[in-house]
Amino acid sequence: MTVTIREKLEEVERAILSPKAALSAASAGRVRAESPHPLRTAFQRDRDRIIHTKSFRRLKHKTQVFLAPFGDHFRTRLTHTLEVSQIARTIAKALRLNEDLTEAIALGHDLGHTPFGHAGEDTLDALLPEGFSHSEQSLRVVEKLEYEGKGLNLTAEVRDGIARHSKGRGEILERDPAGLAKTLEGQIVRVSDVIAYVNHDIDDAIRAGIIKDEDVPAAIVRLLGKWHASRIDRLVEDVVLSSLKNGLERIAMSREVLKSLVDLREFLYERVYSSPFATDEVEKAKKILTDIYRYVLARPAEYIKSFPKGDAVERRAADFLAGMTDLYALNLFEHLFFPRSWRS
Ligand code: MG
Repeated sequence: MTVTIREKLEEVERAILSPKAALSAASAGRVRAESPHPLRTAFQRDRDRIIHTKSFRRLKHKTQVFLAPFGDHFRTRLTHTLEVSQIARTIAKALRLNEDLTEAIALGHDLGHTPFGHAGEDTLDALLPEGFSHSEQSLRVVEKLEYEGKGLNLTAEVRDGIARHSKGRGEILERDPAGLAKTLEGQIVRVSDVIAYVNHDIDDAIRAGIIKDEDVPAAIVRLLGKWHASRIDRLVEDVVLSSLKNGLERIAMSREVLKSLVDLREFLYERVYSSPFATDEVEKAKKILTDIYRYVLARPAEYIKSFPKGDAVERRAADFLAGMTDLYALNLFEHLFFPRSWRS
């Protein structure tokens, strides 16, 4: 029997990856059984499926911090996702873990993010009877919403990593085993997400003139360095070395560097996310999404017929809203609530 290229790639994984790596040939598999691909491993295939989704393309018009930013150099949800993927792959490769699995989780982790960043997420969380979180929504996107409602049928490892990637302002390194991603690759994405956004949000806040370079607390600068690149480098190196030190028991950081990452995140919350500039915009985003939500809820047949039948109407309205880009939400709001001028 001829050996396929995919089987050879699986053989390469077994030969070069760490015994702690998640091997694609050992995946717990998909909900619906599929025949293996002749060229690509299961995790490569998942990564590719995510890139080809509409949800992935919409990330380019979703806000990271600044709502529908005009400046071309501000991050969007898409560039954030790519930065997370780059950081996570560097760590995975250095630890000889599965880069394809890491990349698939990273590229899929924010697919369920709302328009208007966390302002949108908080708004939906308050509106929905059962609450709303973007990581649960990301899972819903890949399981239920994409591919005309059939879902992407991803492997268990990728779905697990997406579902457990975030806890907002909670602990960066999960201590509760129940909340921890089952693979080290999933744990890498969680910490890489924080490393990416903390650093690029500072960079963007400086670009927007909300803070200045010299506002970053001196203790953090001393430990992590003065520049965006040096800080990421130091954080990534610390994750790699600390995880190796504990024999890859779990993805880890040294106490000192972890504390500086937490401090950096707190600095951001205080100086950027709760700055008057950001909070004024949050109020506008809340109004836009709340008004659209109520409007749609009263007219389900017109707006949310295509969302999963059998789910509550609130849930389907949230699917519609969460999928919107910032621009789509702004345009729809204008269309629904602004009077139209007479044209001659
Ligand atoms: Mg993220």
